[in-house]
Amino acid sequence: MATAQTIFKRIATEEAFVTQEIADEWDKIIATGAPGDPGFRMMGQTILKPSPGTKIIHKRLTDLGAGRIKDMEADGIDMQVISITSPGVQVLEGSLAHELAVHANDQLAAAVKKHPHRFAGLAAIAPQRAELAAIELDRAVSTLGLKGALINSHTNGKYLDDKIYWPILDAANALKVPIYLHPQTPSPSMVKPYLDYGLYFAGWGFAAETSLHALRLIMSGVFDQFPNLIIILGHMGEGIPFHLQRIDNRYLLQVKIGAVKKMQKLPSEYFKDNFVITTSGVVQQSSLQLSLEELGADRILYAADYPYESVTESVHFIDEAKISDNDKHKVYHGNAERLFSL
Ligand code: CA
Repeated sequence: MATAQTIFKRIATEEAFVTQEIADEWDKIIATGAPGDPGFRMMGQTILKPSPGTKIIHKRLTDLGAGRIKDMEADGIDMQVISITSPGVQVLEGSLAHELAVHANDQLAAAVKKHPHRFAGLAAIAPQRAELAAIELDRAVSTLGLKGALINSHTNGKYLDDKIYWPILDAANALKVPIYLHPQTPSPSMVKPYLDYGLYFAGWGFAAETSLHALRLIMSGVFDQFPNLIIILGHMGEGIPFHLQRIDNRYLLQVKIGAVKKMQKLPSEYFKDNFVITTSGVVQQSSLQLSLEELGADRILYAADYPYESVTESVHFIDEAKISDNDKHKVYHGNAERLFSL
């Protein structure tokens, strides 16, 4: 149990930014009411709509300097691992998306260089141009010093188990850097029933979309091909830790009847070996306890989800968790230091 005197270093690992150039391109899509991704269009009509609230969020998202550090200090956050906010460049035309990802990585790397003890970064890449994305991931890690990449789930309804994206997975595997699989709205082929009642958004649709994506990676055998690849899932593993027993159980039944191919390991074993999860946006103690029981304290990282969620609440959540100080050190900073070589 933590005592009042215990001071923990805090590294927050799913902290968002956007470049003005990417935000401008989103605005263009939203303003024209262009067809395309219905999930993104709904975002444009609802939570991205201009308002005093979105103005504050936008200001925080585009600040990679003093304003961000001031906010971090207010909650005792020592370091942010910063990444492009959802849906990043993945809703843009491929060549433009690649160009803006490169530009975003340059901006992020410059901020990290200026504040190396405060910021680390994950690269934005454009899966629409998978070969170029793999080259950019290599440049971002080898030349710019970024620590991996973040991909906002599906790209035009396609998932990373598709072999067209394997150059990206291959690059991450070879560079020994993780890919943060971050939510976005459900893909066009599944979003329709989510569009009512706000369900397309972070309360449910994001987790449904991203957990599906993670399970596609597992069930397709991607990790037999890339055994060292690490995927990071936010939001306490997008619900997957809760379902591991049943996922294994029904997988085994499907193998038995010949409906799916037998893999080298059980789905839960891939999940425990090839995934780590973060606490972003979740302050439910029972979710943390279940995840600790299923995955262990070495595979859970603290994240606040700045500037979307209350950083104060996320800090109270971990501070007050009924876990050992040793585990708290792992969650707050030790696991992030190891995973991102900080
Ligand atoms: Ca987020």
